Amino acid sequence: MAEKKEKFYITTPIYYTNGLPHIGHTYTTVVADVLRKYKKMRGYDVVMTTGTDEHGVNVERAAKKAEIPESEFVARMADAWRALWDELGLTADEFIRTTDLQHVRTVQWLFRLCKENGYVYKGHYTGLYCIYDNAYVSEPKPGNLCPDCDRPLETVTEENYFFKLSAFQKPLLDFYKKFPDFIQPESRKNEIVSFVEGGLKDLSITRTTIRWGIPVPGEEPHVFYVWFDALTAYLSAVGGPEYEKRGMWPADVHLVGKDIIRFHTVYWPAFLMAAMLPLPKQVWAHGWFLMDAAKMSKSKGNVVLPRPIVNMLGMDALRYFLLREVVFGQDGNFSYDALVTRYNSDLANGLGNLASRTAAMLEKSFAGKVPKPGAFRPADNALAKEAQNAIGEVLERYDKYEFARALEAIWSTIAAADKYLTTEKPWALGDSPEEESRKATILWTTAELLRIVTVLAHPVLPESTAKVWRLLGQTAALDATEMDGLRWGQLVPGLSLGKLQALFPRVEKAEAIERIESMANEELHPAPAAATPAAGAAAAGAAPAASPSEKIGIEDFTKVEMRVGQIKTAERIVGADKLLKLMVDIGSETRQICAGIAQFYEPESLVGRKVVVVVNLAPRKMRGVESNGMIVAASIGPEGRPVLAGFTEDVEVGARLK
Ligand SMILES: [Zn+2]
Repeated sequence: MAEKKEKFYITTPIYYTNGLPHIGHTYTTVVADVLRKYKKMRGYDVVMTTGTDEHGVNVERAAKKAEIPESEFVARMADAWRALWDELGLTADEFIRTTDLQHVRTVQWLFRLCKENGYVYKGHYTGLYCIYDNAYVSEPKPGNLCPDCDRPLETVTEENYFFKLSAFQKPLLDFYKKFPDFIQPESRKNEIVSFVEGGLKDLSITRTTIRWGIPVPGEEPHVFYVWFDALTAYLSAVGGPEYEKRGMWPADVHLVGKDIIRFHTVYWPAFLMAAMLPLPKQVWAHGWFLMDAAKMSKSKGNVVLPRPIVNMLGMDALRYFLLREVVFGQDGNFSYDALVTRYNSDLANGLGNLASRTAAMLEKSFAGKVPKPGAFRPADNALAKEAQNAIGEVLERYDKYEFARALEAIWSTIAAADKYLTTEKPWALGDSPEEESRKATILWTTAELLRIVTVLAHPVLPESTAKVWRLLGQTAALDATEMDGLRWGQLVPGLSLGKLQALFPRVEKAEAIERIESMANEELHPAPAAATPAAGAAAAGAAPAASPSEKIGIEDFTKVEMRVGQIKTAERIVGADKLLKLMVDIGSETRQICAGIAQFYEPESLVGRKVVVVVNLAPRKMRGVESNGMIVAASIGPEGRPVLAGFTEDVEVGARLK
């Protein structure tokens, strides 16, 4: 009979939908994903929840500005967030939207429980209010002016429901004492404890001045206000009122940024205590990534976006950097320089190099099979001991959320293996039976270390470790491999190695940074439609066509200078899987042109081909690579497959099309 698995429930914050994810949101979600993978490999039944917080006055305003209904606005935002997480391979088990019916029911149910138990009462809230923006203002400009619109504010009193937070000062302090690990890291705990010791004021949890919110049943126009709504999503995602059936509540860990720790460690447990529901086991607050020591914000223009980094270096590189660079819980500096340096040193030269040289030697000396080791010498045993010890240490570090230390331990075994190879020199051994056997022992030992490293690093580097895993001839699913069963000596001789796929191609630092920044710039400031590299084709079709009835004069047509060009070279672009970089001879000169045809044309097949080039188009950057002109193509089929325009008769390079 199968043993019932222990459950583990992880959440990220329910992100507010007034913008799109930057590296800060990505960081929390990456950590949640790493934990999810890790806990699964430790045999837990894991659920990870993320989602979108979709109510409130900011959404009302943004929807108004976009001239669409709120419901449509938030649906678009939720789609965009979900799509980015999917693109980044961050797959949550539950994606909860605060407009989901299940969530609405849960919030109303929680309110009823709190009210029945005597912790909710009707009162009055007074504050400075901007009637133009429909919002209370907590920090007015001098002269009581609205910080958003500069209009004079009014003092408004409205009827609200209040939550009796003041009743929970002692219960909360007792709770923190009884569960000393509830607030992490330790440094944050002191801050919260002294905040609660300073006394708690009752909390207004409804509004009558906001329209876009969850209605308080029977009490319209009251709607729930911010935290009573948003925090409850953690519970809605795993069953809401029927949470016992799902068996996931309480959360084992809420991952949050340090700016919202108070709401998670004071309000949230108080709401749950009032409703007599089980409390979460832990709240873990991480620090911020700072750019030049300043908090990232869109208004400061120092926002780092995940997509350009992933396009250039791969998702594993981003995950590795975020977890390796700073101690989880503290603030850290984000710089592209440090990112690319770590990529080259730890990933390309570290793991990537060890895997590729081991594979090459096994291929050459043992026909691509795992050899049977001979007698072990002290150097082999020392490496074995190092790897075996690493298993225990890495698991302990992961358990304590010391991700940087876990990776440090893994990378120190990689360094030990590099040193071992340098000392033992398997490549210098000859073909005599003794030397052959020695070579087999060394390479088996290295491959076995690589296998252990692969399992241990999998939660952080899912894509690349899966490649190494197949390379080592392993057929079982890596993500289902139980870390608790991992031991030195399990690599079976005779296994056929898989093919080595490129893991981490080295990059030139300055060029890589320029490309990443340029791609980020394209994403933050999209070019006007005509110059945007539209999905699929890069060719003339990218510009919106004039409607059929609209005619242009010949003078408009002659503005476009098209010439016959001949493709001299064609190559793929790292970090842009749709683009090819072409060097095209247009008679007077050779131009560099990017074309979005990589999925449909092999680069080699294009060399020598004559094409039509728009030569007087302003240069622009596509995925950070300069493109000076445009290749003309027709686009066919529903997926818009580009077909390059060409000639059946021979035409001279440089000839103008009229
Ligand atoms: Zn205003």
